[in-house]
Amino acid sequence: MHNNDMDMENRIVAPEFSPEDEATENPLRPRTLNDYIGQEKVREALSIYIRAAKERHDPLDHVLLAGPPGLGKTTLAGIIANEMGVNIRVTSGPAIEKPGDLAAILSNLNSGDVLFIDEIHRLSRSVEEVLYPSMEDFALDIIIGKGPSARSIRIDLAHFTLIGATTRSGQLSSPLRDRFGVQFRLELYNTEQLASIVTRSAGILGIPIEHDGAMEIAARSRGTPRIANRLLKRVRDYAQIMGNGIITSEISQIALSRMEIDKLGLDAIDRRMLNVMIKLYNGGPVGLDTLAAAIGEESVTLEDVYEPYLMQIGFIGRTPRGRVVLPDAYRHLGIERDGQMEIKHE
Ligand code: ADP
Repeated sequence: MHNNDMDMENRIVAPEFSPEDEATENPLRPRTLNDYIGQEKVREALSIYIRAAKERHDPLDHVLLAGPPGLGKTTLAGIIANEMGVNIRVTSGPAIEKPGDLAAILSNLNSGDVLFIDEIHRLSRSVEEVLYPSMEDFALDIIIGKGPSARSIRIDLAHFTLIGATTRSGQLSSPLRDRFGVQFRLELYNTEQLASIVTRSAGILGIPIEHDGAMEIAARSRGTPRIANRLLKRVRDYAQIMGNGIITSEISQIALSRMEIDKLGLDAIDRRMLNVMIKLYNGGPVGLDTLAAAIGEESVTLEDVYEPYLMQIGFIGRTPRGRVVLPDAYRHLGIERDGQMEIKHE
């Protein structure tokens, strides 16, 4: 148990799925490519691949979606299935424990169906080995019996489309990665795109919101739609109790600062991480594992959850010798950099 497990659980700007998202996540998920906001390159390419596959009456090629949590990978898998007019079966790497589990799932798919495997980098090696031939040849090789009398039989599978999602494409074995004909990396969203997502979600949930209110929430959502939707729900409570129910810029500002989320969407944990880097390691370079140990988090969590946004806004840089804090972060935290003072005041 880490000291910070509680922090992570309660962390409102955590981009991972949490049970509180469940009730609203489904109605808020866009169903068509047209409703999917942002990620233009991915959308454009997908719409062509989908149309081409449909015209040829072929299943879509296997698709790999990489990127930090909460950016819309699961949503996109649902949209692909919907646009192709096929069924989708949703599972995840850790949920498929044995090769037999995967064989059972695969043999129940119909032609064209989408199999979505979230966290595909967490599949075990033995399960991966069943996946390769099924992705390539649409067949399963099953060994029956043991010892010298063992023989292998081949079961044909329907031509399905595998959609894999991963937060860490670097951890995928290359034979698996190479079997995806289509590979996309989702990017963090900009403030305008997030404001559109917030406005769209508010419309679906029946929450009155002003444009400036949506912009305020968007600016503090760390480039992540899941966080934007979550902040929207929290700010709604403030608008209802402290105002007249309408989300204005002022209500958003009050609500978000009460939640200790600053203008850039950083929360107490981000600030602690930056402070540790500055105060204990003189701004870096500091190795990821050292840093993780110093703030009591897993290195994986730092890399997947905290870093992408801090790098995007230019607060942290990666060097061969470790992570460094960049000048914008010092400015934001109001901390002066040693040795830089004179240059600054000249
Ligand atoms: P991931 O699978 O990458 O963790 P999800 O697909 O579960 O992320 O998305 C999280 C939430 O964010 C969904 O409920 C969805 O409503 C919203 N969302 C994600 N991407 C978009 C988008 N491009 N446009 C609108 N809403 C989005």
